[in-house]
Amino acid sequence: MILNKPLITQCKHCGEIIEIDTDLECVFSQERSMGVESQYEGVIDDVCPNCSNKISISIDVWEYPVGAIETYSIDTNGIELIESPDFICEDFY
Ligand SMILES: [Zn+2]
Repeated sequence: MILNKPLITQCKHCGEIIEIDTDLECVFSQERSMGVESQYEGVIDDVCPNCSNKISISIDVWEYPVGAIETYSIDTNGIELIESPDFICEDFY
């Protein structure tokens, strides 16, 4: 699982647009009726390059069946996500 393009976020403190790119690691998988279900996680802790406001983002993606995004959740702190994320199930290609 990878991000097709960086996440576009905005600093809640100064309004700076911050692009965040991260790898998503498989943290869990299990066999289900239609194949393997996998959970991927990415966590970023950083500061705003403009105002040094602390920012963090935590991404949780479930892939099931293989090659399909089942669901995802994104928690942010100090920043706001201003564009929908675009995930790619890289094993699929
Ligand atoms: Zn800022």
